[in-house]
Amino acid sequence: MTQLAGALKTLLDADSVFDSEDVLKQFAYDGWPVAAKWRNQGKAPLKPEVVVRPAREEQIPKLLRWANEHGVALTPWGAGSSVTGAPLPLTGGITLDLSLLDRTLEINERNLTVTVQTGKMGHVLEAELNRHGYTLNHSPQSLDRSTVGGWLSTRATGQFSSKWGGIENLLVGFDVVLADGSTAHFQTGPRMAVGPDLRHVFVGAEGTMGVITQITLQMFRQSAHRIFQTLAFANLDDGVAVMREVMQRGLKPFLLRFYNVIESRHAMKDPGFNQCAMFIGFEGEQGIAEAEYRVAKAIWDGYGAQELGPVAVEKWMERRFDFSTVENILKTPGGLAETIEIAHFWDGIEETYQRLAQELAPYADEVLAHFSHAYPQGTSLYLILLGQCADDAEAEAALLKVWQTAMTICLETGAALSHHHGVGVARKDFVRSALGSSMPVLERVKQVLDPQNILSPGKLGLELSRREDER
Ligand SMILES: Cc1cc2nc3c(=O)[nH]c(=O)nc-3n(C[C@H](O)[C@H](O)[C@H](O)COP(=O)(O)OP(=O)(O)OC[C@H]3O[C@@H](n4cnc5c(N)ncnc54)[C@H](O)[C@@H]3O)c2cc1C
Repeated sequence: MTQLAGALKTLLDADSVFDSEDVLKQFAYDGWPVAAKWRNQGKAPLKPEVVVRPAREEQIPKLLRWANEHGVALTPWGAGSSVTGAPLPLTGGITLDLSLLDRTLEINERNLTVTVQTGKMGHVLEAELNRHGYTLNHSPQSLDRSTVGGWLSTRATGQFSSKWGGIENLLVGFDVVLADGSTAHFQTGPRMAVGPDLRHVFVGAEGTMGVITQITLQMFRQSAHRIFQTLAFANLDDGVAVMREVMQRGLKPFLLRFYNVIESRHAMKDPGFNQCAMFIGFEGEQGIAEAEYRVAKAIWDGYGAQELGPVAVEKWMERRFDFSTVENILKTPGGLAETIEIAHFWDGIEETYQRLAQELAPYADEVLAHFSHAYPQGTSLYLILLGQCADDAEAEAALLKVWQTAMTICLETGAALSHHHGVGVARKDFVRSALGSSMPVLERVKQVLDPQNILSPGKLGLELSRREDER
């Protein structure tokens, strides 16, 4: 047993501390494709020294106080579904696995809120709410492999965000344990004008500002009615224009996805499909969903879109959590697969798309792309690269070049580096350029909340721990 593990076993419940090589390796890989390539090569460059999996919430303040006093790095772990390396420790130390803290604490049917511990898995919570006739309306593709704490800490969005917003829009309040072991409670009610909204210091903070232990989210009555349509566009410009107009006219499609020709072939399950497909859906009270559909139809008719009926969208709804294409490629020796999501205003997104599609093409056999998560001001763009290299070392090197290329294009075209996957390890070296004059504000907040720099050091483009710098 290492000295660190020994000290933690004395401090905490002994059966919540793990330092066997098998367990440490489980926490050395998240869902980042580069990590999949490390695993294939038997490498584990970002492995914790010890894993703590508390069964009692009271252990967390105790653990953080101790880590702070001893200058030991601590990285929270939800379910490890990050696709950017976010829960992987850059400087070893403790990985805090929150998976046992997964109780539902309150379902408030009058206010339509639900309070849970942050290790709660998304699909478990959703099933529980469905049994009562409610839903979160937060449906990331990783619903069954991610936690509520991970959602908040990565600023996640779900597939229905064009109507319901990202996790920050569903957020009511939370409890957080700070680096010194003290706890803070943030609650706003339906809205609050009592100073700055400090909750946002922790939303998307990727474990750098505190450990979130309980969260209250909005919940909704399940939708009474849904209407779907599949549309085909002769070119990309027309589809993007329809998305923009739909959002700017104040419509709220819960589903809005527009594919380039290459991804349209996958989405339509038709290798011969030669147009750009759009999946659109409205939900809610029947009269409202139907009225929104009619207004949207007038918009797409104006752009000459061809209606293909609801079946393709309905089939996609059934398989919308399936990620096997990417997973199978990554398991294959030399297989290259990557997903990169960014965002831009309407007047910039097409230039960014054209450059990404063109400059990433040399790294992959196929560059799939779709526009989704739309807003009146702009949209997210999601790229999927699929290819094959000679071996896993070559694929790892190619993936790192893909990130370098993609992030440079975002910086040059003014796009946001990420729409919802967050920074992690993949994007950390680009944050300083992206945030510019606001980076020192982030650094000062971090300095005040975590002066010993024990929480996820080196993440979000912040400095590595003193311990690492001294090595
Ligand atoms: C197949 C697949 C599909 C995906 N689809 C989507 C999608 O549709 N939308 C989307 O937004 N993302 C998606 N993701 C990415 C991923 O699921 C999200 O980033 C998710 O929010 C991570 O949750 P997690 O519980 O797995 O957190 P982890 O991956 O374990 O951690 C993520 C980050 O949050 C921190 N963290 C976790 N819990 C806490 C806590 N309680 N307190 C403080 N910090 C914490 C970690 O330190 C880390 O920095 C997908 C991933 C996969 C593999």
